[in-house]
Amino acid sequence: MKSIAIEQTREMLCEVCRAVIGQKPYLTEVDSKIGDGDHGIGMAGGMEKAEKALTDKTDFDSVNEVFKTMGMAMLNSMGGASGVIFGTMFLGGIKGKEKMTELTCENFPQIMRDALEAVKKRGQAQRGDKTMVDAFEPAVEAMEENRNSLEEMLEKAANAAEQGMEDTKKYVAKFGRAKSLMERSVGYQDAGATSVAIIFKAMKDYVEKAD
Ligand code: ADP
Ligand code: MG
Repeated sequence: MKSIAIEQTREMLCEVCRAVIGQKPYLTEVDSKIGDGDHGIGMAGGMEKAEKALTDKTDFDSVNEVFKTMGMAMLNSMGGASGVIFGTMFLGGIKGKEKMTELTCENFPQIMRDALEAVKKRGQAQRGDKTMVDAFEPAVEAMEENRNSLEEMLEKAANAAEQGMEDTKKYVAKFGRAKSLMERSVGYQDAGATSVAIIFKAMKDYVEKAD
């Protein structure tokens, strides 16, 4: 599959919402090891609002509008650092872009690359700082390197995000509550990186089924 239409893009992001909501207890558990334990609650709450917004609205005129609806619902409902960071994950890539009527092997990596750069600009985190960037950046690179089909692109991206999430165990936290633990944060995976791995896996699962 080289592309998906606006409606399939909407369905794919709904699948992302349901996957994160389903992993709420797991995300909470991961965040409670070195964070304050609210990541699952925050993410699931934002994704519930996003799924509702994506379901209530029926007349999306572009892929841009689908991403915007998702990101705005998260930004407006989540609050805190992760509301801005994860809202930007869906908003940053469409900002200033012409309307797209399908999601393709060419424009999808560009959308996610621009979203990543917007997240990094907002949050000032670099790879190795033990944040969601550690999963997001390798996933975007995998997308850029695998443009033959959406299935292959998202399979590689989901694997890269999962590996990036695993790698956060090795890092010392530089942001959020975990920062105060310093070396004691080593050995535990980052909650936000875990969310990114879940998000990419859900997109992979969707395109696999949509075949
Ligand atoms: P809070 O830190 O406000 O409790 P959450 O627990 O919902 O928010 O989210 C924490 C996650 O947000 C972290 O695990 C990390 O991945 C991500 N995060 C926090 N600050 C930043 C940042 N500056 N840049 C990128 N990601 C960040
Ligand atoms: Mg937290």
